[in-house]
Amino acid sequence: MKSSSWFLLLFLTGAALAQNKPAAGLIIRNAKVWTVDRSHPEAAAIAILGDRIVAVGSDAEIDAWRGPATHVLDVSGKRLLPGFNDAHVHFTDGGAQLDNVQLNDATSSQEFARRIAERAAKTAKDEWLLGGDWDETKWNPAQMPTKELIDPVTPTTAVAVNRYDGHMIRANSLALKLAGITAQTPDPAGGVIVRDAQGNLTGGLKDAAADLVYKVIPLPTHKQRRHSIERALEHAASLGVTSVQHMNPDYADIAIYNELLDEGKLTTRIYAAPLITQVDDQVKIGIKRGFGGPYLRIGALKAYADGSLGSATAYFFEPFADQPGNRGLLSDEMHSISLMRDRMMSADSAGLQLCTHAIGDAGISTILDLYAEIEKAHGRADRRWRVEHAQHMAAKDFDRFAELHVIASVQPYHAIDDGRWAESRIGHDRASRTYAFRTFLDHGVRLALGTDWNVAPLNPMLSLYAAVTRATLDGKNPNGWFPEQKLTVKEAIEAYTLGSAYAEFQDKEKGSITAGKLADMVLLSEDVLNIDSAKIRDVRVLKTWVGGKLTYDAEGRP
Ligand SMILES: [Zn+2]
Repeated sequence: MKSSSWFLLLFLTGAALAQNKPAAGLIIRNAKVWTVDRSHPEAAAIAILGDRIVAVGSDAEIDAWRGPATHVLDVSGKRLLPGFNDAHVHFTDGGAQLDNVQLNDATSSQEFARRIAERAAKTAKDEWLLGGDWDETKWNPAQMPTKELIDPVTPTTAVAVNRYDGHMIRANSLALKLAGITAQTPDPAGGVIVRDAQGNLTGGLKDAAADLVYKVIPLPTHKQRRHSIERALEHAASLGVTSVQHMNPDYADIAIYNELLDEGKLTTRIYAAPLITQVDDQVKIGIKRGFGGPYLRIGALKAYADGSLGSATAYFFEPFADQPGNRGLLSDEMHSISLMRDRMMSADSAGLQLCTHAIGDAGISTILDLYAEIEKAHGRADRRWRVEHAQHMAAKDFDRFAELHVIASVQPYHAIDDGRWAESRIGHDRASRTYAFRTFLDHGVRLALGTDWNVAPLNPMLSLYAAVTRATLDGKNPNGWFPEQKLTVKEAIEAYTLGSAYAEFQDKEKGSITAGKLADMVLLSEDVLNIDSAKIRDVRVLKTWVGGKLTYDAEGRP
């Protein structure tokens, strides 16, 4: 062995160094490795022993790790990266969505009805038919669907399918009956029960009116929930997502993660952040940030400061450009702010991490105020507070983010989606500090990347594409919407791997291809570092490894 390779063995104990080193279980060679390790950014080969990377180097250096039982994989010069870590997902909802009827690409009302009929025939008697994401603007004529379209094919299946924007559902007659909605039911506050010219129900329920139906849908059974999570795990593996951070899971989700862990079936690493309204539970049992093992950790809390831009409920200093009387809302949890302060203080005293959803500039600012108060009361510490979304920043707050060492946990796909219409809602000036990824980096703020799946697709290639191009989905900004906020591919990958690992206190364990770290990796169909940025979204995953185990293989099941 060349002496230059000895540094690769630093992870080994003195005792192991004194003997012959063990052979690797797996060697991946002839790869273009982008390690995301600044001290050693590129390599051709890696050696894996058990669930850890033991060496990273040239093909010749790594050959020294070959033993009679070593599995050697030549990947023909393909690009290998650390596995992606999605810092913000709703994993169970995402898995459930994969099983829902897909209506988004239906191109006519007949096709809408046909797909619902087909799904209803396969739906168990007391299960609801949900999801859909229909978009009637793709039909000719572009007419809202009515319950009459689907009633004849769903006599015994309750249907509540949603429009793609999430602001309207279409219920069939059975669903309306189960919800107790009649033509005489008044519109609830914040919602509309859509009626025809004669006052008859159409099945349309807007915003808060949809809750009248949602509240009678039975909670998923243990079996359904487990099925959704298994579907989500499969989907994540197929996309090279090796870790996810599950925001506001139900406790029942965490119970299923534990069950899968016991059975050796948890193929994506999970960090779960239940709602801050449940802070006392974790405080009582003395759990701290990052508690658990390599596959399942807790110790963070998810809080909500405000609403969203799409529903005009994000909380701003000034009114929306298109709604002069409205500057959005603080969330329920922020009424009163002193209740939120008490919960945050109690979480911090217990050593729990805070991940707070804040979208509007005033919502973000209010959370930074609270974080600053806690730091003042409890002193400096390595807390890695997060603001989830951090969407619309006040100019003065970038510096405060940096001073308080707050992580911006951001979702680039939202930028190319909302970027289609955000400027009409908040005007040019505020839009210029929207999804301001470059400005965050320039201020020394750490980014963690994710998707908010199932609100946006889980595919990391779409998020990389979004961060690098900022080309809105409507094709109207081919050179980028506020292009000065673009990230480079390398910056986006680092934020999506090491950045997200840092945001869950696991940057020493994962997030880069470094000797001693967990062997979580993804092999790509194209060299994402050297292709036309418009093509990043078409890059596919060839193989995914978690802890050195193959969890996805495009050539067939592992
Ligand atoms: Zn979310």
